[in-house]
Amino acid sequence: MKIGIIGLGLIGGSLGLDLRHLGHEILGVSRQKSTCQRAIEKGVVDQADTQISSLTSTDIIFICTPIGLIFPTLKQLKPYLKKETIITDVGSVKTPIVLECSAFWENFVGGHPMAGTAEQGIEAAQSNLFKNAPYVITPTENTPKDGVKILEKLAQSLGSIVYHCSPENHDQAVAWISHLPVMVSASLIASCVRESDPIVLKLAQQLASSGFKDTSRVGGGNPELGVMMAQYNQRALLRSLITYRQQLDQVIEQINTEDWDSLEKLLNETQQGRSPFITPPPQF
Ligand code: NAP
Repeated sequence: MKIGIIGLGLIGGSLGLDLRHLGHEILGVSRQKSTCQRAIEKGVVDQADTQISSLTSTDIIFICTPIGLIFPTLKQLKPYLKKETIITDVGSVKTPIVLECSAFWENFVGGHPMAGTAEQGIEAAQSNLFKNAPYVITPTENTPKDGVKILEKLAQSLGSIVYHCSPENHDQAVAWISHLPVMVSASLIASCVRESDPIVLKLAQQLASSGFKDTSRVGGGNPELGVMMAQYNQRALLRSLITYRQQLDQVIEQINTEDWDSLEKLLNETQQGRSPFITPPPQF
């Protein structure tokens, strides 16, 4: 197939590497000339350009820009598209994107390859990033079935495990397992650094080990990404945060009233509740 990729960063670049390796012809578009040049050198694309009009003849286009630019990019693209061209995106939040893009382009299929690293940009692009990782496709009742099938086949060819769900269910699920952990972990760090006794604060910093590293990792990441999650997934994230706050209040109450039985019951439940998230149930 002739595949267009707009935004040659970590995700767009990694998609290009694998899809090209599979024999597809890849035409890339990125904002900066230097990125286009680097993408050609790295073997991410066959050709690259800063002009979106270079994608006129493609069968499918992956929009891999930052979330806020996905819909504006589609608007810019429209004059150059054949009506059969499938447009998909890789944004980490789906409801606002799918709503806007599907209303604007009939052949739009929302997607989210759930793989990444802490790095950004074309230099971060790597082969096999999507292997064994979930690739969520979020059709609506109006999404053309053929487009969904083509994206599904491409995702499978990357070695991804494909899931289908509504954009809303996607956003609530990622709020639980990705966006809530970022806010909880950030709040953990923010609480620790507020320790008012400098001797205790320094000692805590010296003693912090693997437990703190694990629980603080996602809260100590890219601030822009955290704000983006809150901004674009506000409703689902707030729902998760409010449930979390209620849960935290319950734990405070149990400890304050020395209700050790209830606390133990809760910790037994959480010990068991964790495993289906770590070893997920089979696809349905
Ligand atoms: P990234 O590494 O920063 O790459 C984005 C690239 O888009 C940049 O390298 C930039 O290239 C290019 N770009 C920016 N504005 C553009 C424009 N107007 N037109 C064309 N290209 C433009 O970011 P990323 O991590 O790949 O994320 C991209 C998308 O993937 C986001 O929507 C994100 O939600 C989604 N996603 C990210 C992850 C993750 O873990 N990072 C996982 C799954 C999905 P230039 O150098 O040319 O400016």
